[in-house]
Formats: sequence, C-alpha cells, structure tokens
Amino acid sequence: MHSAYDNYIKSAITELSQHQGDFGKLKKSLCKKFGVPMPTNANLRDHYNQLLEQKKIKRSEKFEKMLMSRLIRTQSGVAVVAVLTKSYPCPGKCIYCPSEKDMPKSYLSNEPAVMRAIDSQFDPYRQMQNRLRSLELNGHQTDKIELIVMGGTFSFLPKAYQKKFITECFRGANEYKRSQKVHKVKKFIKTKRTPSEELSYQQKKNETAKHRIIGLTLETRPDYIDAKEVLNFRNLGCTRVELGVQSLYDDVLELNKRGHLIASTVEATKMLKDAGFKINYHMMPGLPGSTPKRDFEMFKALFEGPKFQP
Ligand code: SF4
Repeated sequence: MHSAYDNYIKSAITELSQHQGDFGKLKKSLCKKFGVPMPTNANLRDHYNQLLEQKKIKRSEKFEKMLMSRLIRTQSGVAVVAVLTKSYPCPGKCIYCPSEKDMPKSYLSNEPAVMRAIDSQFDPYRQMQNRLRSLELNGHQTDKIELIVMGGTFSFLPKAYQKKFITECFRGANEYKRSQKVHKVKKFIKTKRTPSEELSYQQKKNETAKHRIIGLTLETRPDYIDAKEVLNFRNLGCTRVELGVQSLYDDVLELNKRGHLIASTVEATKMLKDAGFKINYHMMPGLPGSTPKRDFEMFKALFEGPKFQP
C-alpha cells in the first residue's frame, strides 16, 4: 500500500472522534485530502499493522473497531472457516443438483466460499491460511476455529485424499502466523510418519496451537454412514456431520432421484447420535412431489419425531 496511506491512517485516528462514528464519510474526506483511491478496510488494517510494527503509530482500539467488518462473523467467539474439496464425482443423481465444470458437485463458481477455494486452487493449507488472514485483516479473532469442509459427498472421496486434506487443514492452522504479510504454502516436508501418524501429529499439535480447530464439520449422504464411516469421521477429528436429508417423504426422494429412502436417514442419525456427533440436516422444501402443506407437516415431524430431531 502506498506511503500516502501513512498520513491517511494517522489522520483517521485523530479525526475519528469528530466524525461521530461515520467511518465511511471520514474515509471519503481523507481520500480527497490525500488524493488516494478508496482503500478497503482490510487494506487499511494491513497497513495499520505495519505502522504498528514499525512503531510509527500507537494502537487505537477505536480505529480497530471501525475497521472490523461483519462483527457477527465471530461474535460467538468462534471463527468459521469454510474450505472446499476438489472437484470429484458424486454418487448421487439428484435432479435438482447443479454441476459446473471443475467445481465440486452442487457448488457454483460464483459462491463466495467457492471463489476463495478457486483462488487457493482448492489447496486445503492455502485455503485455511488465506481465510485466517482475511478474517484477521477484518479485525476478527481467529484463535478458535470451526472448520467446515464442503464439496459434496465427503464420504465418496478417496480415503487417502480425505486424510491428506484434513491433515493439511490442521497444518495450515498450526503454521499460521498472525500478521504475516504473505502466506506462501510451506512445503510439506517429508517425514517418516505415515499419513495416519501425520494426521495425529498435526491434530495433537493443534491442541496447543494459537489457532485451534475446535470443531470440524463434514457433509455427506445418509446412505454413506455405517460403522466404518463413523470411525473414519472420528479419526479425522470430525465433531459435526451435515446430512443431505432433503425430504422425509420416500415418494419425494424417489421422484428427485436421491438414491436413498428415509430409512437411511433414520439409521444414520441414530448411529451418529450414538457416537456423539452433532448433526445438521440439509432440508429442501418445495421439491417436486411436495406441497407447502406437506412441507409444513414434514418440518413438524422433523422437530417432533425422536428419530430425527437433529
Ligand atoms: S448427493 Fe448431494 S452433491 Fe450428490 S448429486 Fe445429490 S445433492 Fe448433489
């Protein structure tokens, strides 16, 4: 960022109180004053951090608060980091599911999380570090992370890729350095550890890291949950499973070519609950074969029925 922004930031800190919290107005007037283009808050934060490091300015909590965007993102104390697995076929043939070349099944390239994944070439390490960096630049705390892995049916991905992907997410969090300027992919240095040992090593390391993954969500289909998969998810460190349930009506599931019936959802829910996982359901009202009345009854059954109640 241009050095003209040194004075821009210094003026912003001193003039903040005169603008009674209207940061947008202040930014505009400072752009005019210093003849510079409108900076994003993330750019300002980056430059502000550099000035702090160089001891050219004193810390201003008020200024930092102004730079924070979408406070709600981390208001719970947990920063959500959503990452995407690479494009890979899905066993499902659901008629409503979009497909786009080179994108994971059911995701489109114009969605924010997908755009970020494309930027990182779907590399899990880079996705983790870039997201932490961006949250940090927007003023968010990133010491507690809820990691959400998206990209279709996780269970259908090759097991070796699953393990490597999750290991790299943990490594990305472990090696992230606050306020580091450029996050390059630190090459994975070959060790004598097997892939499973490497996963355990990174998980263990993360228990005392500055950026801890306190929750890990994986998404899958109910008919891919069995005792083996429950164990696999547990080994990967998964704490929450997002199940593609979509409807509680067998005729609707059949009409939409889901490839499984409601019995699979009931079974998967029981197995996951018994194993202590949190469960999220993906539900789709308005599917062909349903009506508003049926959808209403479906949600009632979902919240009232002990077989479901995610
Ligand atoms: S299972 Fe999910 S990702 Fe696969 S086709 Fe159906 S909706 Fe799409």
